[in-house]
Amino acid sequence: MHHQYTTAVNSGKLHIVATPIGNLEDITLRAITVLRNVDIIACEDTRHSGKLLKHYGARAKLVSYHDHNKRNAAPELVRLMSEGANVALITDAGTPGISDPAYLLVNLSRESCIEVVAIPGPCAAIAALSISGLPTDRFVFEGFLPIKAGKRRARLDSLKNETRTLVFYESPHRLLKSLAALSEALGERRCVIAREITKIHEETVDGTLGQVAERFTNDRPRGEFVVLVEGRRERTEGPGTDPD
Ligand code: SAM
Repeated sequence: MHHQYTTAVNSGKLHIVATPIGNLEDITLRAITVLRNVDIIACEDTRHSGKLLKHYGARAKLVSYHDHNKRNAAPELVRLMSEGANVALITDAGTPGISDPAYLLVNLSRESCIEVVAIPGPCAAIAALSISGLPTDRFVFEGFLPIKAGKRRARLDSLKNETRTLVFYESPHRLLKSLAALSEALGERRCVIAREITKIHEETVDGTLGQVAERFTNDRPRGEFVVLVEGRRERTEGPGTDPD
């Protein structure tokens, strides 16, 4: 498909605003200014975000934009922006578009020649990587693994030979299943789990996939998790080979 990358002059803009992943102080000055000045704030959960926005003194009209209404809500927001409304999109946590419903609205806005502006900030995957001690020069973000066992196995199979650091999101009730599936597909690799980043019970658990699974078998998984696994080690090519 051919897109014209021009923007309409009288349209409002779509601001993709990153919000905290736990600690309310993790928001940029620019994000607060934007949230205070737009006409409409679209969010996944108006009750959850209502509290946050009140905290920052943002009083714009809140509209809901989530997985179950995005197909109707996105065109409606695009219509409002083309009539001049400035919109900020926030999600429940972190950077919109990273494992949440933002993609559809961003894509539709761009197709409709609405200017899309990034107001960057926290992202759980990047925060976890930055403290993991695993190589960060090259990494693969895999988001949530498929829930069904067959699909999950197929996905992990396709990642077996990946040499870059693997980054996953996981929910507490699927963590142990995913760790078992990771062990089975990838073998004993180093794994770092970043739990509840920026929150009171923040911690990292570092070990082999087996050791980390054991820890959470003894201590039921609670909270939010980023799972990082080292990539496949590249085989050294024998004596005298310079790794670089
Ligand atoms: N858009 C968000 C971002 O920028 O990170 C991610 C949204 S996704 C629906 C939610 C998942 O992100 C959680 O299940 C968890 O895997 C991860 N996550 C979010 N906040 C976190 C935190 N404070 N600590 C660890 N993981 C977190």
